[in-house]
Amino acid sequence: MPKKESQKKKVVIRPEPSKFHLVAKRSSSGLGLYTLDKIKKGRKIIQYGGYRITDEEAEKHYGKYLFDIIDTKYTIDGTPRWNLARYANHSCRPNAEAIWYGQEVWVCARKNILPGEEIVYDYGTEYFRDIIGGVKNCRCVKHHPAHGHLGKLMEKEMKKFAQKKVVNSK
Ligand SMILES: [Zn+2]
Repeated sequence: MPKKESQKKKVVIRPEPSKFHLVAKRSSSGLGLYTLDKIKKGRKIIQYGGYRITDEEAEKHYGKYLFDIIDTKYTIDGTPRWNLARYANHSCRPNAEAIWYGQEVWVCARKNILPGEEIVYDYGTEYFRDIIGGVKNCRCVKHHPAHGHLGKLMEKEMKKFAQKKVVNSK
């Protein structure tokens, strides 16, 4: 008997371990992704992982952690919590960007990033309009200068995390 779509074993896109110490931490609105290391402009920060699903499936569970793999029938569903890259929030004033390398998506530094900074990238105009709901609902630092994303970890927290050596792994 043919298996239903949902019973099929999913193809896992397991991200390469990041070269940087990254932590997911509560920010002004939900979790954000922070770096404990200095990251130079142009460096790959973290690969976007998840399950490989078909574009057809992706349309059914439309969510915010989807990356359409160019020139294929597949999409990356980045919902799993082990996909640390999913904690990088949207910002209209980003310090990172999502770049394709073949069939891999990497969050890369578009400027020099300092230890303790939140890693944020622009999710694109469609997401901004349809999911965020435009300027008045956007939580980025540009639209919420006082407490928008692109916050910083406190010195104290950085030490705590550095000691634990929380690394992106499993
Ligand atoms: Zn914004």
